[in-house]
Amino acid sequence: MAEAYPWQDGLWQQLAGRAQHAHAYLLHGPAGIGKRALAERLMASLLCQRPGVSNACGECKSCLLLKAGSHPDNYVLEPEEADKAIKVDQVRDLVSFVVQTSQMGGRKVVLIEPVESMNINAANALLKSLEEPSGDTVLLLVSHQPSRLLPTIKSRCVQQACPLPSEAMSLQWLAQALPDSSDEERVELLTLAAGSPLAAVSLQAQGVREQRALVVEGVKKLLKQQQSPTQLAEGWNAIPLLLLFDWFCDWSSLILRYQLTEDEAGLGLADMRKVIQYLAQKSSQDKILNIQDWILAQRQKVLGKANLNRVLLLEALLVQWASLPGRN
Ligand SMILES: [Zn+2]
Repeated sequence: MAEAYPWQDGLWQQLAGRAQHAHAYLLHGPAGIGKRALAERLMASLLCQRPGVSNACGECKSCLLLKAGSHPDNYVLEPEEADKAIKVDQVRDLVSFVVQTSQMGGRKVVLIEPVESMNINAANALLKSLEEPSGDTVLLLVSHQPSRLLPTIKSRCVQQACPLPSEAMSLQWLAQALPDSSDEERVELLTLAAGSPLAAVSLQAQGVREQRALVVEGVKKLLKQQQSPTQLAEGWNAIPLLLLFDWFCDWSSLILRYQLTEDEAGLGLADMRKVIQYLAQKSSQDKILNIQDWILAQRQKVLGKANLNRVLLLEALLVQWASLPGRN
């Protein structure tokens, strides 16, 4: 049984309490808030053979088969390798599942995550299944970036936004999920995870606070010309590229904000406050705007899983970052 998160209570009532189910749902919202768990919970309840319960009973034949991973009428479509694309051949297999009749005589349920990892051919192949519903099949599409989906896909689904939980609720949940951490660590993790509590837990597991300390240290040495962009780019090879681009993106926004407001409360996490203040005072606004544009463009490429040369890209970033202070 998929985990039920406290911030999903309202959403769950809304979804599970429907008198009639849509042919396709698009559950969308930021990564790391439990959309997959919500979809799995809905899948289980749609397949459960005890009518009238909104939560799966956990005991009927259907529930037991689902638990064992051998339910014939459910289908999970995801990339074969993490962070890779869903291939068109995978979607074709799904399409032939959708046109079959249900083997247990009830609904068939398909879960696709993340939908945006389908390329255009794969997405077009899926469209057919969305356009011509077959029998009692329900498709559950999960997306962290709905802006990257084809409008034709979105328009064929009932869209259900899954918002970030409030900070207070996330911190309360994190206190139970990470009982050995301090209050301060949890606030920091949640900030690094852009407010997503599950992302905060996985960041903690991947050692994000240590990674962040390494990067901050590196940036300080870069600005003091004690380490070169190449050395740093190579030293950061265990740190996810997207995380690095997120941080530099944040820092450029914080610099711009401080230039405009001089508000010391808006300098972000304590570890970079002095650096951000320094760069805001020493760099022209044009330069910051330029580097921010560049970072955003590169970040899109990283998100789009473009084939990038990691070290070259980081070097390019750090060369520009090192040249921020100064007149030209
Ligand atoms: Zn059941």
